[in-house]
Formats: sequence, C-alpha cells, structure tokens
Amino acid sequence: MRHRIAVIGGGPAGLTFARVLHHHDHPVTVLERDPAPDARPPGGTLDLHEGLGQLALGKAGLLAEFQALSRPEGQAMRILDADGTVLRDWQPRPDDRANPEIDRGQLRGLLLGPLDVQWGRGVTEVVPGTRDGVLVHFADGRQETFDLVVGADGAWSRVRPAVSTATPHYTGVTFVETSLDDVDTRHPDLARLIGDGSVAVFGVNRALVAQRNSGGHVKVYAQFRAPLDWHTNPDRHLGLNRRADLDAGLEAGLDLADVEAVRSSLLALFDGWAAPVLDLLRHGTAFAHRPLYVLPVSHTWAHVPGVTLLGDAAHLMPPLGVGANLAMLEGAELAESVAAAPGPGDLDEAVRAFEEQMWARAGRWAKSTAAGLERLVSPDPTEALALFDELQPS
Ligand SMILES: Cc1cc2nc3c(=O)[nH]c(=O)nc-3n(C[C@H](O)[C@H](O)[C@H](O)COP(=O)(O)OP(=O)(O)OC[C@H]3O[C@@H](n4cnc5c(N)ncnc54)[C@H](O)[C@@H]3O)c2cc1C
Repeated sequence: MRHRIAVIGGGPAGLTFARVLHHHDHPVTVLERDPAPDARPPGGTLDLHEGLGQLALGKAGLLAEFQALSRPEGQAMRILDADGTVLRDWQPRPDDRANPEIDRGQLRGLLLGPLDVQWGRGVTEVVPGTRDGVLVHFADGRQETFDLVVGADGAWSRVRPAVSTATPHYTGVTFVETSLDDVDTRHPDLARLIGDGSVAVFGVNRALVAQRNSGGHVKVYAQFRAPLDWHTNPDRHLGLNRRADLDAGLEAGLDLADVEAVRSSLLALFDGWAAPVLDLLRHGTAFAHRPLYVLPVSHTWAHVPGVTLLGDAAHLMPPLGVGANLAMLEGAELAESVAAAPGPGDLDEAVRAFEEQMWARAGRWAKSTAAGLERLVSPDPTEALALFDELQPS
C-alpha cells in the first residue's frame, strides 16, 4: 500500500527525507515555499559528520557523490586572540573524513537530483484528523489532503502548531553575516589568515569567525551578546564606549540596510582588535542580521496521528555545527521507517517510534549546544578555547 506523504520544506531535512523515500521507490510530494531553487542565496558551508549527515547520505545512496564534492581540508581550524596571536592551528590528516565541508548550494543540488519539488507552495496551516486525512492549506488558497504530513519547514514552521504550542525564543546572541568573494586573488592576506578552513577570534562577549566556502568565497560572522533591539535602541546597546557609539551614528538608531553604517558599528564593537582581523569586516560586502533563536531544550509533543516534525522545526538549537546533520539523519531514518510500514496502523506506529528516538537524541544535542553557545560567546574568552580543546584534541 502506498501512503500519501507530503514533506513541507526543501531544506536539508525535507530533501533528505524525500531522497531516501525515492531511493526506496516510495512516492513523496515535496512542497517548498521558495518560488525557485535559486530564489535566494543558499547560505554558507556545512560540515557533515561521519555518524550523522554522512550516514544519512549513505542511506540515500549519495555518499560517493558527496565525497567527490566535499572539502576535507575545510576541517582546518585556526584560533587567534584579539591581538592576532595564533593560539591554535589545527590541520586535519590527509585521510581525515570525519567532518568534511560542503557548500549548502552543492548539498541541495546533490539531494535534489531527480526529485520533483513543487516550488512556490508556501504552507499556511496544517489540520490533522479530517475525514480524508491531514488537510494542508497553502498561501495561494489551495488545499490538499495526505496520510502523513512531515513538517521540515525550519525555525518558523507553519506545521509545528498542529502538534505543539512551542515557539522559538531569542538566545541573547546575534550574528551579523558578511562575505568576501574571490579571496585568494582579491585579499591574499585574508586568504592566508583564514587558511583552508576557518579562523575564529574570541573576545569578551563577542567573536569573529570566517569560514572558507568553495570557489574562494568566504563567510564572516560577527557574533555578540546584545538585546534583540541593539540596533534601534542605543541606550540598551552593547556597552561600547560612548564616543564610538556616536561615531557609528547609533544615537539615531542603526539602519540594518545601510552597509556602511553597519560596518562602522561592527568596527566600533570590535575596536582595538588586530587590523588583519578587522579587515574581515572592512572588506565584507553586504551584511545580514541573524539573531539566534532556539526552541526549548528537549522540545517534545503529544503524538498527533498524521503529522510530525523534523530538523529545526522540531528542535531549533544554536548553530554549533550539528543542526543540518541531525535534520538529515532524522529525514533518512523517518523515510526508512515509513518505507517499511505496509498499512496505516504501521505508518502511525513507525512515526511514533521515530519521534521517541529523535527526541532523545536531539535533546542531548540541544543541551550541549546551548552550553556551547554560552562558552563561545562568553565574558571569559578562555572558555571558547577550552571548548575547542575539549572537542578537537590535538
Ligand atoms: C550561521 C549558521 C551556521 C550553521 N552551520 C551549520 C553547520 O556547519 N552544520 C550544521 O549541521 N548545521 C549548521 N547550521 C544549522 C543548520 O543551518 C540548520 O539546522 C538546518 O538548515 C536545518 O535544516 P531544516 O531542513 O530543518 O530547515 P531549513 O534549512 O530552515 O529549511 C527549511 C525549508 O523550508 C522552507 N519553508 C519554510 N516555511 C515554509 C512554508 N510555510 N511552506 C513551505 N516551505 C517552507 C524554507 O524555504 C526552507 O527551504 C547553521 C546555522 C546557522 C544560522
């Protein structure tokens, strides 16, 4: 018997789920809000762990293609202090395949493969328990019913309210992202500073991280503790010195769309740091504001027949290198369980068992990444170094 299955969202979770079902010759409908695959920039680089994201790709039959695309050398990690002194310079062994990097766009292309995604199908609401199954409402006014609806629609999931009242809350840490293009030819000094992988510089309640993507593209993340309204409310601003605030024009509030104003504000925030480190901000092109939100640690719900969640929709956590990995493994595991479930009762049992397994594993990661964020953007920068040494012993 073929179940009518829809997955909402074509991110790492939804596409891995669909690709593994496809691998098992099971039909699945992928509904994605973006109007086209290239409707927005795909984002930065992801490291896929051997026991998580790579395991999922293996279940989809895509491991060899991943290995051909990924960058094992991208695992390299350098840590500096704010005056530019190199504190750690970790290089992977040539045969190290534990956590190779891949651009998000390349990963999406790999997962999309033969999948028939329905683009421009934003979901507004999911209603379980109707006579014909689970009813899905779309932004364009259409409706469809399915036996199982899988919410893989990320942090601000429109499927989540069908099973849970939880909503994401702000962590107190904000990222402002910028990028550099063609770094090896246009900024050779920065290319050397970054190396083959990432460079991180930790200060008091702030950090700067730069990560190499493929093709000489680099993403830079200015990370700092601040109230959510740090850019509009100067009185609650970051404890910067007042002169720098004034120079940065913060008295009037900061327009996040004004590239030069954001750059000045960040340079003020990181004032006194070594010049080569600040060049990461000086040469950045556009700036994107990314306050970090999380769901409550150990988010679970009372099982609702016909609806479940995967990835960030289920357990949004701080971006410490595991969210996409978990999302993909969950997608692969749920797909295998669903493909092996012959009747409607079996399908519900399979989803129920999957949820128990997902909650237990995601709960452990949510705790450790929440604790990790406290140490990475911390009043005591030595905490970040200690965390690195615990995770990456030389
Ligand atoms: C700066 C940063 C760096 C990170 N680095 C890493 C890393 O190195 N390794 C790692 O494992 N994780 C990393 N993460 C976390 C990772 O990005 C997420 O955990 C991962 O993308 C979650 O995948 P997902 O498929 O659950 O959700 P998403 O990637 O958010 O995908 C959701 C999809 O659903 C679509 N959608 C949303 N709403 C609707 C709707 N109503 N209807 C239809 N479609 C909809 C969206 O357009 C999107 O395509 C990082 C996160 C950040 C912010």
